[in-house]
Amino acid sequence: MTTTVITHIGSLVTNDPAVGDGSPLGLIRDAAVVIEDDKIAWVGPAGKAPAADETYDAQDRAVIPGFVDSHSHLVFAGDRTAEFNARMSGRGYSAGGIRTTVAATRAATDAELEANLLRHLHEARRQGTTTFETKSGYGLTVADEARALRIAAAHTEEVTYLGAHIVSPDYADDPAGYVDLVTGDMLAACAPYARWVDVFCEKGAFDGDQARAILTAGAAAGLIPRIHANQLGHGPGVQLAVELEAASADHCTHLTDADVDALGQAAATTVATLLPGAEFSTRAQWPDARRLIGAGATVALSTDCNPGSSYTSSMPFCIALAVRDMRMTPDEALWSATAGGARALRRTDVGTLTPGARADLALLDAPSHVHLAYRPGVPLVSAVWQRGVRAH
Ligand SMILES: [Zn+2]
Repeated sequence: MTTTVITHIGSLVTNDPAVGDGSPLGLIRDAAVVIEDDKIAWVGPAGKAPAADETYDAQDRAVIPGFVDSHSHLVFAGDRTAEFNARMSGRGYSAGGIRTTVAATRAATDAELEANLLRHLHEARRQGTTTFETKSGYGLTVADEARALRIAAAHTEEVTYLGAHIVSPDYADDPAGYVDLVTGDMLAACAPYARWVDVFCEKGAFDGDQARAILTAGAAAGLIPRIHANQLGHGPGVQLAVELEAASADHCTHLTDADVDALGQAAATTVATLLPGAEFSTRAQWPDARRLIGAGATVALSTDCNPGSSYTSSMPFCIALAVRDMRMTPDEALWSATAGGARALRRTDVGTLTPGARADLALLDAPSHVHLAYRPGVPLVSAVWQRGVRAH
């Protein structure tokens, strides 16, 4: 057993409202954290910290829980620089751009896909992410979807089967046949590697009936539903998420009053996950975070890191967008990027710094978490501990 005390923390976010200043962030000034092996053993005022084998002096800087990025698409090959360049030069975005990545991903070797995943994972960790979810969805054949999930499962517990990202180009004339594949042989091959099942419920991808069939089949195979909902326009995705008790409805950009009410009522079950990197990178309308928070919804923030519509792995960047453009407070945005992400993944061991939680934390080169939005684009994460080990 090894113990480490991180002391002289100027501002510690615990996300435990029972400690510190009583706010949802459970903020403690002049704090210390004791790590025992891979877990948090103690948090509190620095002057009361128990002795430990090793001491790390935080020099009055801020410590936060490691970010929980609950939505990413990191098993892919190639990039979409040309598409982004065209879009920023005046052309619209359609879901069809995914086909470019599907072709590159199918052509890649397992080793290439894994190296690409690891490159993005390390990039995210340098920016404070210690838990991440990632999806398949760029293979769209039984073998390619299963290998994407097998590669992902070697690096994270939070693996999502997204065979229903778009209708495979191989089934362009037979979308019903593709849904049969996604709910049949492909599901059987993928379920052993995945915890979650997801579907892109959108015009040009899958409609409400298809999405219901896909999520229901996934649930019958032991996977928990989550859903890409209401990103590009109004649609049935959010209501379906609530009906099926999905862990998360992701995007939530175009919501009716009934959608917002439903997410407010389902706050304990279905999280509204906002992905402002997608709106930034497609110059789309921002999700209305204030309306969701006002209705009592549980809001998570995530990167949606993918090569098409949101090629950022940076949770601090998403926090800055959420504060500047979605009018979340700096406290709300930090909570949503840590505890909110944990809720979206139905995890109680990450996203908080309380005794027993996983020792996943980030030291900021700043006196407060507010600087993540106040100093956008500045690499403020100066150290990361993952499962108690200094990882960056
Ligand atoms: Zn996505």
